[in-house]
Amino acid sequence: MSDHLMQTYARQPIAFTHGEGAWLVAEDGQRYLDALAGIAVNGLGHAHPRLTRALCEQAGRLIHTSNLYEIREQSELADRLCALAGMDRAFFCNSGAEANEAAIKLARLYGHSKGIDTPAIIVMEKSFHGRTLATLTATGNRKVQAGFEPLVQGFLRVPFDDVSAVEQVAAHNKSVVAILVEPIQGEGGVHVPNPGYLRELRRICDQHGWLLMLDEVQTGIARTGQWFAFQHSDIQPDVLSLAKGLGSGVPVGALLARGVAAEMFTPGKHGTTFGGNPLACRAALTTLEVMASDHLLARATALGERIKDGLRTALSGVVGVRDIRGQGLMIGIELDRPCADLVASARDQEQLIINVTADSVIRLLPPLILSDAEADVLVERLARLIRAFLA
Ligand SMILES: *Cc1c(COP(=O)(O)O)cnc(C)c1O
Repeated sequence: MSDHLMQTYARQPIAFTHGEGAWLVAEDGQRYLDALAGIAVNGLGHAHPRLTRALCEQAGRLIHTSNLYEIREQSELADRLCALAGMDRAFFCNSGAEANEAAIKLARLYGHSKGIDTPAIIVMEKSFHGRTLATLTATGNRKVQAGFEPLVQGFLRVPFDDVSAVEQVAAHNKSVVAILVEPIQGEGGVHVPNPGYLRELRRICDQHGWLLMLDEVQTGIARTGQWFAFQHSDIQPDVLSLAKGLGSGVPVGALLARGVAAEMFTPGKHGTTFGGNPLACRAALTTLEVMASDHLLARATALGERIKDGLRTALSGVVGVRDIRGQGLMIGIELDRPCADLVASARDQEQLIINVTADSVIRLLPPLILSDAEADVLVERLARLIRAFLA
């Protein structure tokens, strides 16, 4: 690896030359089953023929113009996403952090529009919202923040999945304008809240005139078996941030908003050079098309159940497995001890690509194009590894 790369990542000593579906091929020719999909990015797996064709065709025609002009692909994507999510308007950017940064700016504009000079946003413990200054401040992880003080003002933190904590803030703080929350916490350890949680947050937001802002950067784009995770509950957010799975690896993020929230950004208030360019939008449009035509939402649900059931059977009675949880193809296996070493042993012993988050939670985010047979291979390899690790 080059000495000229900044040391931002503790990289694994492996590089891949190409991929095919749910498989990655390393420089030495070894094939690996990809149960991480670039951290919930490659929903269509690798080298999907329809995506490849669409990107080549678009690249041969037009990659970038500028947001100084109308962009047909961007308009089409806005229409499509708003129809799928029940939202009114979209802003396109290039990453999850940028989508959340836009959400934070939007919430502040909303506050000021109501005469609140120091608007505050409620955020959660163990949350993850990105690495820009505002989004790392919103993130509920001291490790992400340490060394970057002074942090950004205007955030209030409460425990995740705790409605009464939010109600207490509501009773005492008149400057709150929004709640920013992940429907399922990803980086924090694949935490699925109680069934009524989002509905309660929606009720509190309605009662106080706050915006309900959902960070679906990880949970969105069919990952949990619905287009967006909030669609498992009977609610509608005011603001929705998307990125990871949206472009199948071509960088694209989006902020969707509804009602009054959709009218906050007026010319000059926000922008980006690359955001929503024709290539990125073509990637997103094709991703959505393939997911719909190939019924990948239903597949995510079925595969998630298959993998969780398989792991529960294979690991039943194994001491040290605390919990197997998740929704669709966002799955966490919590062990009773730190298990970051499993990433290397999965790779080297089982040719399996996984991730460990929050020290002791194995995180699976496989591509949605996985076959049943591949899901069974995943379960077999992972269960063997966990048993050996805990023995
Ligand atoms: C990954 C992630 C982000 C940050 O996205 P980037 O594209 O890395 O900036 C924000 N929120 C959630 C929930 C994420 O999982």
